[in-house]
Amino acid sequence: MPDFQQKATALLRRFYGYNTFRPLQLDIIATAACERRDCVVLMPTGGGKSICYQIPALLADRGVTIVVSPLIALMKDQVTALTANGIPAAAVNSMQSEEENRVILEQLYSGRVKILYISPERLLIEIDRWSSDLPVALFAIDEAHCISHWGHDFRPGYTQLSRIKALFPSVPVMALTATADRLTREDISHQLRLSDPRLFIGSFDRPNLSLRVITDPGKTRRINHICTLIDRYPSDSGIVYCLSRKMAEEMDRQLSAKGYRSTVYHAGLSVSERNIAQDSFINGDVQVVCATVAFGMGIDKSNIRWVVHNNMPRNIESYYQEIGRAGRDGSKAETVLFYSYGDIAMLQNFVDESGQKALNAEKLNRMKEYAEASLCRRRILLSYFNETMDHDCGNCDVCLNPPEHIDGTILVQKALSAIIRINGSAGIHMLIDILRGAGRQDLIQKGYHLIKTYGAGRDLSFAEWNTYISQMIQLGLIDIAYNESNHLKVTPYGSSILSSRSPVRLARFVPFEKRKTGRAKTVEENARTLNPAERLLESLKDVRLKLARKEQVPPYIIFTDKALLEMVRTEPVNIEEFARVEGVGERKTVRYWKPFVTAIRRHKGITEPLGSGLSHEETLLLLNSGYDIPAIAAAKNIKTSTVYNHIASLISSDRLTDFSAVITRDQYLRVMQTATAHPETLYERLTPEIPDGIIRIALAISDQLLRKKANE
Ligand code: ADP
Ligand code: ZN
Repeated sequence: MPDFQQKATALLRRFYGYNTFRPLQLDIIATAACERRDCVVLMPTGGGKSICYQIPALLADRGVTIVVSPLIALMKDQVTALTANGIPAAAVNSMQSEEENRVILEQLYSGRVKILYISPERLLIEIDRWSSDLPVALFAIDEAHCISHWGHDFRPGYTQLSRIKALFPSVPVMALTATADRLTREDISHQLRLSDPRLFIGSFDRPNLSLRVITDPGKTRRINHICTLIDRYPSDSGIVYCLSRKMAEEMDRQLSAKGYRSTVYHAGLSVSERNIAQDSFINGDVQVVCATVAFGMGIDKSNIRWVVHNNMPRNIESYYQEIGRAGRDGSKAETVLFYSYGDIAMLQNFVDESGQKALNAEKLNRMKEYAEASLCRRRILLSYFNETMDHDCGNCDVCLNPPEHIDGTILVQKALSAIIRINGSAGIHMLIDILRGAGRQDLIQKGYHLIKTYGAGRDLSFAEWNTYISQMIQLGLIDIAYNESNHLKVTPYGSSILSSRSPVRLARFVPFEKRKTGRAKTVEENARTLNPAERLLESLKDVRLKLARKEQVPPYIIFTDKALLEMVRTEPVNIEEFARVEGVGERKTVRYWKPFVTAIRRHKGITEPLGSGLSHEETLLLLNSGYDIPAIAAAKNIKTSTVYNHIASLISSDRLTDFSAVITRDQYLRVMQTATAHPETLYERLTPEIPDGIIRIALAISDQLLRKKANE
């Protein structure tokens, strides 16, 4: 095991630039790669599932790892990301030409492709052809909950994946998903015919996501809040989830009208419109996508800094998956849920029309309880996923703003008696207007101004009443009749409280402006207060953007925000320091160190130019991490003869003392023999059998050995 652990960790460092595995990752990798046993992996979005099958793919000497994924639109992105890290990957799907697909499928046999992404439909076509002779190291089934009718995202294409086990009984299968309750989990193993699979359940805690719920925010406050978020992260992006297409379009219109770069995404758009929206989001051309739930499945965009739910999601699973798209790089990200009673009515309709009504009603109810809670929200979420947390999180609105309690007995009496006097014939807005003695025309027409409690709550603002009545709903004193235009009714429990005049505690209202979770800074304020570290971060982002444009890839493919933050923290001023930064793998070190290190040196006021000897350093670094000479030439985009020259001079300056990777013992001995016997015609005699670069290296080695002897 330690040997394996060392090997796996070296690959993690080399290809991804990470130093340690996250919890479970190593166990999962060992199960697939060493035990070759099936497993089911349950981890939240952003938990690091991909590495669980990618490292086994790299560990395997032979064979390709096949990744089955329904997310065709994202395959390209994944392949680009892998390739950028120097991992040979490809995809086969309906978005590429048949010619491209055919070339890739043929290459599989050469062993050049280590990881292949394929849609389930396409896999089922190809798999019969493969079964006899294609060496497969591992099958990874991503988004595996799609196989189950119990899951929320059933895909018919998935149900026939049991063929994998039938045709490749000895190849391990790894099923991965971010959302699966017990039923779905069992269904996954059963449908895939996994044999005695090991189950891994990762922690669902994502401490870097702040959680916040704003109850009944009203239209202006919604928009203002979203604008604040966009302004707070001007060079990053966010998602606004809406319940309907119409709402998504409306939100997009409003944000665009305010001058923000916004776009819309929903199932009503054509495939090409959706692709354009998704691409411009991934590439950072837009700051915000107003989307229905159809957006974002599997998106690995690491710099999503915020997610707003403009409407309440149908269940906690969807909510958790959607907020989980923010902050996947592990840096701080904000999530906000706008909760209004109006949404409940709409969601109730969905539930009523759904296949599994009782189940979905219960799920909706749990979501509602979450939104209305006055306990630490993370504790509620984690307990939903059967994980216990023994402390408050300190990063949700409830924790940051612990409710102070007041004696709400009188308020409850006023509100409940008003409801009773109007026979439960009004919703929350009308009720508040009655309590505050408003002169609304429809109020007067209905004669509500004649009841005894009319104006009895004048001393409180609308917002205060709104908060307190919401709490009465949470406490179960008042019920909302969703089937009667959301009119408020007093529950039997409410009646008993009212008649017994029992004391009721309510959480004190805190005006929005005073809440500690706080007001966001505007762009101007941000600019004024930019400290040196922030300025450096901005200039590194500039460097990244320029490279991304040049290479036509999304910025996060170059480096994630988290990696840039690490650069800011460690301020590497040469290639060796740069190579050690967390999140900077080998391939990217060589490709990108110069522009980033240059920016950092400028920031630190180092004027001394980056010397030319540095290209040798790169070569040394690559040699030490196991690259052979052709690979170094390819990575650096230089001729092999130049690499030989570097190596020879590294040997001459005693910086390279282990030659096993550059020359074989036989080669060395032949050069030495010939050099002794025929020193004048050395090169003519040996080339092209032994390249002249190797001859130079052999001579340099011999010099080095002589020098060492002389010094002894
Ligand atoms: P998932 O597929 O579970 O949603 P990903 O595999 O996309 O999550 O991982 C989310 C992010 O976390 C990626 O940016 C990935 O590079 C990063 N990550 C994964 N494993 C590690 C690790 N061991 N150390 C640091 N970052 C990691
Ligand atoms: Zn909390």
